[in-house]
This record gives sequence, structure tokens and C-alpha cells, in this order.
Amino acid sequence: MLQLADETATLALGEKFANILHPGLIVFLCGDLGAGKTTLTRGILHAMGYQGKVKSPTYNLVEIYKFSRLYLYHFDFYRFNDPIEWEEAGFRDYFNENTICLLEWPEKADKLLPDADIKVFFRFHQSGREIKIQAGTEKGKLCLKHW
Ligand code: ADP
Ligand code: MG
Repeated sequence: MLQLADETATLALGEKFANILHPGLIVFLCGDLGAGKTTLTRGILHAMGYQGKVKSPTYNLVEIYKFSRLYLYHFDFYRFNDPIEWEEAGFRDYFNENTICLLEWPEKADKLLPDADIKVFFRFHQSGREIKIQAGTEKGKLCLKHW
């Protein structure tokens, strides 16, 4: 369990997270609205060298970030409710060996999704947040060894 006292701490965790992420990983970000999922993603993207604004993909389900050797897809399934949307957008193809996929509200797309390599659970705790990081696959376990 990690304690994150303020937004800066969440961004710093994202920076640390960026060091262990590699193409092919699927990361679920689980927790209520306002728990810090997008903030963590922002920390990760900034550490990877992305200078721009990190928008919440709530209205279009995914934001795409292209780096020299990989794509990072930031999904937010909060407003997802139709599996046809998944098919039409071709989301299945977004999960492959050249991409890092970070997903907010994965429980809303449940059975359509591949297994998470890593799951991050966010909870409100006093004025800050409490976070738990878990491996979901062997790949995820190996990855977390470098933490
Ligand atoms: P989510 O994507 O989970 O809905 P956001 O990342 O958009 O949540 O964060 C919501 C708010 O929580 C933001 O205003 C952010 O500054 C704040 N926040 C992020 N991390 C922390 C923290 N560790 N302690 C207190 N506030 C935080
Ligand atoms: Mg969010």
C-alpha cells in the first residue's frame, strides 16, 4: 500500500511507473471518479517525454500518444456501454506488442478486455490517496520486480 498525500505525489508515482513500463503491457487503473487515475497517467506521460496537455479521454474513450518506438493508449471506459462501439473502433487491435495500454474504468468493458498485466487500485484516504499495485500475469510480475 502506498500513501500519496497530494497530487504531486501521484505525479511522482507516475514518473516511477514510467521506468518499468514497456511495450506489450496492459495496465488497469481502478478507483472512483476523482481518485487520481488520470493524474497518474499524466505523470507517466510526462516522464516519457510527452510535453503536451494530458486530457481525460472520458468523451471519446481513448487518447493516443505516439512515441518513437511505441504507442501509448489511454482509455477511459466510464461512458462505454455498447460492445458494438468496441468493434467499430477496432479496439482489439490496440492491444499488441508495440503498445502500452492504460485503462480507466476497465470494469465497464469487462469481458471484451484482455487480462491486465498490472492493476492499480486507488482509494481516497484522508485528504490524499492510497494505492495498491498488483500483478495480474507473469509478464506483470516480472515487470514489477524492477520497481
Ligand atoms: P480520476 O481520473 O481517477 O477520475 P483525476 O486524476 O482526474 O481522477 O484526479 C482528480 C483530482 O484529484 C485532481 O484534482 C487531482 O489533482 C487530485 N489528486 C490526484 N492525486 C491526489 C492525491 N494523491 N491527493 C489528493 N488529491 C489528488
Ligand atoms: Mg480520469
